[in-house]
Amino acid sequence: MTPSPRLLLTIDYESWFAPSRRYDFLSPEKRRALDDNFARDVIDRILEVLKDVKVSFYLVGELVEWYPDLPQKIFDAGHEVGFHCQIHRPLTILSDIEHDLQTSITWRRQYKVRGFRAPMINTVEGVYPLLEHNGFTYSSSLYAPAGTILRKGNIWELPVSTLPLLGKPSSFLAPRRMNLPLVLGGEFPYGSSMMSGLFPKTVLKIIENEFKAGLSPVIFLHPYEIVSPAGWPKRFARDMIANPLLYPFTINKLSFLNDLLKSFPISTLENYINGIAQ
Ligand SMILES: [Zn+2]
Repeated sequence: MTPSPRLLLTIDYESWFAPSRRYDFLSPEKRRALDDNFARDVIDRILEVLKDVKVSFYLVGELVEWYPDLPQKIFDAGHEVGFHCQIHRPLTILSDIEHDLQTSITWRRQYKVRGFRAPMINTVEGVYPLLEHNGFTYSSSLYAPAGTILRKGNIWELPVSTLPLLGKPSSFLAPRRMNLPLVLGGEFPYGSSMMSGLFPKTVLKIIENEFKAGLSPVIFLHPYEIVSPAGWPKRFARDMIANPLLYPFTINKLSFLNDLLKSFPISTLENYINGIAQ
């Protein structure tokens, strides 16, 4: 059974520096100093903005270590607590993924984590058996046209939404990330906050059309796009000079989020998956 159309709104809950690869191999202490309580301090404001609307938060586990109150606040507000890996960096080697899953086991159990979102929406087919083994029921770690629901062994894969402009693709093997082949293949990855940063009105219009077609789009935002960090975006200038594609992640999307909240019915992915599984 396909549940009724809704917007599957997700927040990849990570520090402000996570889009850049410059900090991946710093010591955790240095990353914590860089975060400087940002991820701890903005959660209250974000929960306030969401009010009664329930969404899926995919948390970076390192933040749970630094700020143990963080998952509890999200959980107590009735949102889904999902997993965005223990440390936010490219994870496409199975032994690295396995290690990352091991180090996060305690808090994932505590908050009944069932959903997985790979950092940078970049994963490999071999991740699915590992997820199953670790108690997950679903993943949202590919890009694919809205309405695509895949079964990977016993794991559901509910991809971040694209709009296919040149006909629907037929193969959905990981990795399906935002890269040139995906875009040249005619898919507009409107579920990414990169696109809602650059083209917010277009993305809203697309979501409206997807609803008319009976589809449930999956889109993501980040905390630093809802509440801008202090000294923003200057603080991120070196990263943007090195990689100008990071610029759209620094655009504040609070008014886009407010438009979503007032325009569409919204639910967590966990809720949606439970509807399919019945
Ligand atoms: Zn991320």
